[in-house]
Amino acid sequence: MVLERGEIANSWRSERWDSLRLLTPSWQARLPDFPYDGPDPDGYLTSAEVADLVARFAAHARAPVRTQTEVTSARRSDDGYEVTTGEGTIRARTLLVASGACNAPVVPALASLVPAGIEQLTAFDYRNPAQLPDGAVLVVGASATGVQLAAELRQAGRPVTLSVGEHVRLPRTYRGRDVLWWMETSGVWSQRYDEVDDLQRARRLPSPQLVGTPERATLDLNALQALDVELVGRLAAVRDGRALFSGGLRNLFSLADLKLQRLLDGFDEWALTAEAAAGADAPERFAPTEAPASPRLELDLRSGEIRSIVWATGYRPDYRWLDVPVVDAKGHLRHDGGVVESPGLYALGLPVLRRRNSTFICGIEDDAREVVERLDGFIRA
Ligand SMILES: Cc1cc2nc3c(=O)[nH]c(=O)nc-3n(C[C@H](O)[C@H](O)[C@H](O)COP(=O)(O)OP(=O)(O)OC[C@H]3O[C@@H](n4cnc5c(N)ncnc54)[C@H](O)[C@@H]3O)c2cc1C
Repeated sequence: MVLERGEIANSWRSERWDSLRLLTPSWQARLPDFPYDGPDPDGYLTSAEVADLVARFAAHARAPVRTQTEVTSARRSDDGYEVTTGEGTIRARTLLVASGACNAPVVPALASLVPAGIEQLTAFDYRNPAQLPDGAVLVVGASATGVQLAAELRQAGRPVTLSVGEHVRLPRTYRGRDVLWWMETSGVWSQRYDEVDDLQRARRLPSPQLVGTPERATLDLNALQALDVELVGRLAAVRDGRALFSGGLRNLFSLADLKLQRLLDGFDEWALTAEAAAGADAPERFAPTEAPASPRLELDLRSGEIRSIVWATGYRPDYRWLDVPVVDAKGHLRHDGGVVESPGLYALGLPVLRRRNSTFICGIEDDAREVVERLDGFIRA
C-alpha cells in the first residue's frame, strides 16, 4: 500500500516555482520499465510534465496508491509498525520511508534578524518574480535553486545580489553532449555509497549549478555575472540591520573550478577507451570563474535598496510523523544504504542512499530493486 498525503507526484504539483524545468534531460526521466517516450529526449520537462509522467507510471505499475492520506504517526508495534493516518490506522510488517528528501526549506536562524520591512521568501513560497515587491532582491544560496531564481529575477529586470557559499560548478554541455550524459555514461553517477570516500560529505553536497532550458545554456557564476547579477560571499551574520558577507570568494571559486577540472579530466580519460564516447567533440576547458574586483562585504538592509530576500539555502526532509528513534540530531534518517536501524524499516530517495544519483528520477530503479530485495528477505526470514 502506498500512502500519499496529496495527489500522486504531490511535490511536483505544489512545491515548485512556475518556470521550473528538470535539470536532468528528458531521456533521464525514466522509471522502471518506463522509458521516456516523448518528442524531445534532449529537452527538460516542466513540473507539470513530471507530475504527468509520475501519474502515468503509477497507472502503468498499478501502484496501490491511497491519495489524500497523510501519515501522522508511525510507531513500532509487536509485529511491525502501526501507522496512523487521517483515514484510520494501518498495521504493517514493514515500512518504507519514501516521503522525500526535500519536504521543507532550510532557512538559517539569522533570518529572524532581518529588518521587518524586507519581504522574505523561501523556494517553497516563491512562484514568479511578480510576487516580490518592486526593487532589488538578495538571493541567498548559489546552488541549482539559487542560480535559477537569481537569473529569473534578473531577467525580469530586478537588480539581484547573490550570496555564494560552497557550490558545484557544471557546464550544461561538455564536448557536445549534456554534462549529465557524461555523469551517467562514465559511471560517475552510479558510484556506490560504500565506494564513496567521504560519504557524509557526499550526502551534504549541494546541487549542481544547472538549469534546463531549450537553449541548453550554462548557468554558472560567469553566466550570472554576464547578466549583471552582483556576487557577494556567504551570508555570515545580520547585525544591526546589516547583512555581513564572508570574504574569500576567490578561494570558493578556485575550489569549484578545480573540482570541475578534475571531473572533466576524469571524463576525458574515460572517453579515451569508451566506445560510447566515440564521436564526442574534442575536450574543452572553461574560463575560471571571474571574481568581482571588490565584492561588497556588507549590505545595509535598512537602506531600502534591498526589498526582498529569497532563501535558496537548501531543503530538508520532515520526519515529524515518524515516532521511531531513527532520526539523528540534525534531522536525518540513520540508515545503511536504505536499511534503517529498526527491524523492517527501509528508506528510498535520500542523498547518496545507495548511489550518487539516488535523489534523481533516473536513480530510483537500481536503489529500489536493492532495497526491496532486503525488505523481501526480511519478510521471508
Ligand atoms: C527544486 C527541485 C528540483 C529538482 N530537480 C530535479 C531534476 O531536475 N531531476 C531529478 O531527477 N530530480 C530532481 N529533483 C529531485 C526530485 O525531488 C526527485 O527526483 C523526486 O521527486 C523524488 O521523488 P520522491 O518520491 O523520492 O520524493 P518526493 O517527490 O518529495 O515525494 C515524496 C512524497 O511523499 C509525500 N509525503 C511526505 N510526507 C508524507 C506523510 N507524512 N504522509 C503521506 N505522504 C507524505 C509527499 O506529499 C510527496 O508526494 C528536484 C528536487 C527539487 C526540490
